[in-house]
Amino acid sequence: MNTFMNIFNHSEFNIYPEPHVMPTYGRYPIALSHGEGAYVWDIQGRCFLDALSGIAVNTLGHRHPRFMAALTEQINTLIHTSNLYGSPLQEKLAAKLCALSGMDNVFFCNSGLEANEAAIKIARKYGNDTFQAEGKENRLPEIVVFEKAFHGRSLATLSATGNEKVQKGFAPLMDGFVRVPMNDITALQAKVHSNPNICAVFIEAVQGEGGIVAAQVEYLKQLRTLCDEQGWLLMIDEVQCGIGRTGKWFAHQWAGIVPDVMPLAKGLGGGIPIGAVVARGKAANVFAAGNHGTTFGGNPLAMRAALEVIQIMEDDGLVANAIAMGERIKKGLEQALLGKIGINLGVAEIRVHGLMIGIVLEQPCADIVKAGLAKGLLFNVTAERVIRLLPPLILTGEQADEIVATLSGLIHAFLEKKSVQGVI
Ligand code: PLP
Repeated sequence: MNTFMNIFNHSEFNIYPEPHVMPTYGRYPIALSHGEGAYVWDIQGRCFLDALSGIAVNTLGHRHPRFMAALTEQINTLIHTSNLYGSPLQEKLAAKLCALSGMDNVFFCNSGLEANEAAIKIARKYGNDTFQAEGKENRLPEIVVFEKAFHGRSLATLSATGNEKVQKGFAPLMDGFVRVPMNDITALQAKVHSNPNICAVFIEAVQGEGGIVAAQVEYLKQLRTLCDEQGWLLMIDEVQCGIGRTGKWFAHQWAGIVPDVMPLAKGLGGGIPIGAVVARGKAANVFAAGNHGTTFGGNPLAMRAALEVIQIMEDDGLVANAIAMGERIKKGLEQALLGKIGINLGVAEIRVHGLMIGIVLEQPCADIVKAGLAKGLLFNVTAERVIRLLPPLILTGEQADEIVATLSGLIHAFLEKKSVQGVI
């Protein structure tokens, strides 16, 4: 670990203020220097169990030996070329994603919002092409999106996002989105008759930023049927809930359906930036040369990273591990919080989808994150009162128990309004 510690001269490295960094994030008062497995250390040498994984990114935890070896070999071979040339690694990863999803082809980019931006462009072009073929050129395509959705912070994805706080100050937002509540098929069916411009439905299989809220299995099936009947594209944002996190490769697979378009990012690269849009059937043939592109997308380093992440997940059974560890945390928390779960008792609900976990308190609880730091546990709070856990998929039983013990202690203290003594 000494090499890592030596990178930082602690006396020169001040965390605050960071006057040259735009303050786009409200940061917690620690700065991380290195990691190992499910643990990270800060520049003062304090250790934390990383139950957030860089917000669902570090699928394999930190410094996974096989992952490091593959990345090192790739860096020594080829990091970047251009999409002007063929790429065997792109084809290999695309074929693997198609095999895992039952879909047809892939566009590679660099982040979640980019993947979603590409999905929105596919939907619009699909809509425009369809209207033109029907001789209805005066129509402009619209995409159904959902309350409390989060799809990113570019102008298009921000407009698709269902959170006014995130959108505030960025008017004019983009037109072309129709918002409905999730898990309410009647509300959507009503749009069939009132809006002939709809060409796609865009949904997160499990809303992450929205508070770990799943689209119900039955609802996803109903969406698939409605989209088929209406000729709409079903686009499922798996940026946060995909890549094994919920205990299936992709969260919508719990419903036994296949989408037409599926944006991916976060966990796919294990920490190396990557985005991907997987498409099927009519959606797979929408983009032609010149319709979309990116300089960095699909670079050999990112492709190799994702191939290795998937291979290690398969070899080590990490998708099944997500279910086992999620169940273990659920049982542990239920036991440890006995007497606190239920109406007016403090904990409203524990939502567990593999290792995508939300503990819903009955009051806003942003402060509990700092108390967590003091106890050596990284997690965050989303939707004001949902404690969110997104640990790495390599999590062991002992580490799951450590999360339960620390977090339940924090929740008890929070509900009893006791201050938490610790290292921060
Ligand atoms: N879509 C979903 C479901 C997300 O959770 C996120 C990020 O949290 C995004 C899109 C945006 O991804 P990125 O931050 O990589 O642009």
